[in-house]
Amino acid sequence: MKISILGSGSSGNATFLEVDGFKFLVDAGFSGKKIKEKLELIGENIEELGALLITHEHLDHILGAGVLSRKYNIPIYITGESYKVCAEKLGKISENNLRLVDGDFRLMESVKVTPFDVMHDAERTIGFKIENSRGKKLAISTDIGYINNIVREHFKDVNIVVIECNYDYQMLMSCSYPWDLKARVKGRNGHLSNTDAAKFIGDINHPGLEKVYLAHVSRDSNSYETAINTVRDELKRQCIEVEIEIAYQEKNTNIFKV
Ligand SMILES: [Zn+2]
Ligand SMILES: [Zn+2]
Repeated sequence: MKISILGSGSSGNATFLEVDGFKFLVDAGFSGKKIKEKLELIGENIEELGALLITHEHLDHILGAGVLSRKYNIPIYITGESYKVCAEKLGKISENNLRLVDGDFRLMESVKVTPFDVMHDAERTIGFKIENSRGKKLAISTDIGYINNIVREHFKDVNIVVIECNYDYQMLMSCSYPWDLKARVKGRNGHLSNTDAAKFIGDINHPGLEKVYLAHVSRDSNSYETAINTVRDELKRQCIEVEIEIAYQEKNTNIFKV
């Protein structure tokens, strides 16, 4: 299983995965051209992508999805609820390439995908748990307002975690956002704070956890340094040693394999 986060944040999200040789993206929130370039930077060819898995309909997750599906004949996996509200933005998707998600599915025979619902202010938002034929697992959720037991259950035994680490509470409260936006961000249907992400990582840590990516870090109410330091401090307090890496908005992470 290979992963490279091509970029993450409110200006675009896309994660490249190769599982049992099958290459696909989770979210396609940059332009098609940019995604092609980003893939080239990690030595990957866009024509080899076999699927686009979409978490929700916000533009920073779907921007290039329609174009890529049409141009390279790639199936889009999306919930019916999300599709309904972003069909126009996606543009025409051939019937064959529209795969409405409701429950577990497989990519090829061997790659098991388990979508799970998360709280966020979209029509419907899901995260994905992905498992290869050797039992290696990854869970990803980049826009999540609140960690409930369903989410916890899907993250508890994975080898790679991609979790939102959106804002620092003090920085959010003192940033220039209007009050209602601040309330939205910190609400249960908004985004996840550094401290909540840190506690969550502590809760789900187990000996098989090899890598944690902190994603969707806000430019306005957080900094990469604050995010990673908050998480590192909390894990240190709990005597947990696990590799933590930031998913940047502007650049991809190096390929990591389990
Ligand atoms: Zn987002
Ligand atoms: Zn969102």
